[in-house]
Amino acid sequence: MQKTTVLWGVTFLVIVIGCGPQVAKETPLNSRDWAIAIHGGAGQFGEEDLSEEQQAAYTASLQEALARGENVLSEGGRSVDAVEVVIRMMEDDSLFNAGRGAVFTAEGIQEFDASIADGRSRNCGAVAGIRGFRHPISVARSVMDSSEHVFFSGHGAHEFATSFAHERASDEWFFTTKAYNRYLRAKRRVASENALEDKKGTVGCVALDRNGNLAAGTSTGGMNYKKNGRIGDSPIIGAGTWADNRTCAVSATGWGEYFIRAGVAQDIHARMLHGSETLSDAARSSVFHEMGDMGGDGGVVSIDASGVIALVCNSAGMFRAWSSPDGRGIAMFGETLEGTVEVH
Ligand code: ASP
Repeated sequence: MQKTTVLWGVTFLVIVIGCGPQVAKETPLNSRDWAIAIHGGAGQFGEEDLSEEQQAAYTASLQEALARGENVLSEGGRSVDAVEVVIRMMEDDSLFNAGRGAVFTAEGIQEFDASIADGRSRNCGAVAGIRGFRHPISVARSVMDSSEHVFFSGHGAHEFATSFAHERASDEWFFTTKAYNRYLRAKRRVASENALEDKKGTVGCVALDRNGNLAAGTSTGGMNYKKNGRIGDSPIIGAGTWADNRTCAVSATGWGEYFIRAGVAQDIHARMLHGSETLSDAARSSVFHEMGDMGGDGGVVSIDASGVIALVCNSAGMFRAWSSPDGRGIAMFGETLEGTVEVH
């Protein structure tokens, strides 16, 4: 168990796995009442890159966001509401690269992408390149609930959000010195290296409610120093987000271009639906091979229809937390650069 993993719970049925796909084992579970997993971004960061204070701050934020989702689910609320509530909270938390604290584009502005999917109806909603709205995830929710379309971008997304009176937020609200300094560093580096490689902090949530309904959502500022108009995987249903009651709910984080090229979220679903793979096998194959073998990095949080939670990443770190009536936990790092798999 990595040092930084925090676990609670008395009847914890879980196997937390060290590293690498070979050592992962899955404990058979009876169907769970409810389950939730969240992430706060993935990247090539290890324990040595975060001070104790920073680790404590991430732990507190993840714990608080998780608790919001737990409240909804343990009281019999809908998974899609749990996902929205959790992500709204993380969008307001400047530690993460979503909403407040988001990264800057190469032009020095903040643009937001978000998506949400409901596994019961297989409906979904997404926005890309939106600016000036405090909660992009809620705009995506309105697209899902109240529009005949599933995806709005730029100007149209802005008009749509305005027509639903979504809460506005100023540039000052979204601005943080930390994110701006990252932008300035990338700008200085840009001639010599790939400025895009500096990434982490997208937020996401997957949930299963007491009625057996799955949901997923993802929200991000994208990648630091991304080019004008660049859209990543987070708002793309099938790449960064997926939910289908027959199989699983997935939210991804990492190098978006690779997640799009591999269609990671839908690939996990398709492996389960058409190949009868378990969630953890499907998530491993997709993250380590379909996406990872091309050179991408990052991970997913996912839940299947019986409440098994699989957290898989091939990057050194992924901020993540999970909970079910069997127990809860938080982790940030993997033990090797090869990646981590955890099945709960
Ligand atoms: N996947 C996001 C994107 O490519 C970034 C991240 O998850 O860190 O926009």
